[in-house]
Amino acid sequence: MLASWGYINIFYIYISNWVAFLKLNPKTPKSGDIPYKGSDPASIEFRNVSFTYPGTSYKVLNNISFKLEAGKTTALVGLNGAGKTTIIKLLLRFYEPTSGAIFLNGRDISEYSRDTLYQHFSALFQDFVKYDRSLADNVLFTSSSDDRDVDRILKTLSMVGLKYLANLLPYGLDTVLGRRFENGQQLSIGQWQRLAMARALYKSPSLLILDEPTASVDAISENSIFDAMSQLSRNMTTVIVAHRFTTIAHSDKIIVIKDGTVHAIGSHTELLEQSEFYRKMFYAQVHYHDY
Ligand code: ADP
Repeated sequence: MLASWGYINIFYIYISNWVAFLKLNPKTPKSGDIPYKGSDPASIEFRNVSFTYPGTSYKVLNNISFKLEAGKTTALVGLNGAGKTTIIKLLLRFYEPTSGAIFLNGRDISEYSRDTLYQHFSALFQDFVKYDRSLADNVLFTSSSDDRDVDRILKTLSMVGLKYLANLLPYGLDTVLGRRFENGQQLSIGQWQRLAMARALYKSPSLLILDEPTASVDAISENSIFDAMSQLSRNMTTVIVAHRFTTIAHSDKIIVIKDGTVHAIGSHTELLEQSEFYRKMFYAQVHYHDY
């Protein structure tokens, strides 16, 4: 009891932090009113978008314009610091463009309600989350539907080449993953990454955003994931931030971002012909692996 009494003083300090946190006003852009239905694949257009991070003076994106066509896969490539992730953050409405606008199916994206956008957008980042929960939960989490549709879970797992886990693991889909709990089964980093991909695909998003999605996956598994994705109905628009040319090769169109501007747009073959910068990036990687 005495010890607990002593702790009150210590915890009190944290409570004041918490109260201060609750008083903060969110600085994310305002949400619009129009519900986004997500029934058609998303078509996105960046029109003359420039962006400077709040509290800084450097224009990270400088008057960029490009389109992500509905149902197609587009890769964003460029050196570190070029502005690729910033483009994704604007697309996900974490920030408002400083000037210019982003259009979703012909309407300014800021007019849509943010919650409905997130219901139909899936984003998978490099620092994906590993839930110490069952295999099924790892696929279901973040999906708005509460129904546990076993067939759909298995189908999604098979898309990322993990269906065998449902048979291999001792309790099938109900096997707890990770090391936090007793009897938890640990997966390899590549398997976790594929599972995160299954989670992103489960809700059949109209826009799928992948930030170097297969960095921990070997080239053969990567091929089969992209093959499975290309067989999905073209109800999904995909944008991939990619460094590896094995990933980039799976896209319909490539947008090269350089110093916050659109340097070139085209297919892999077109860019190899037209852009010296793209050629340099490509051959730097090919030669690196050519030992
Ligand atoms: P990429 O994804 O192409 O590597 P980023 O979009 O992450 O590039 O970064 C582009 C530029 O924006 C970099 O110069 C980076 O330092 C800057 N930057 C990124 N995030 C922030 C932030 N939160 N505040 C200020 N500057 C940032």
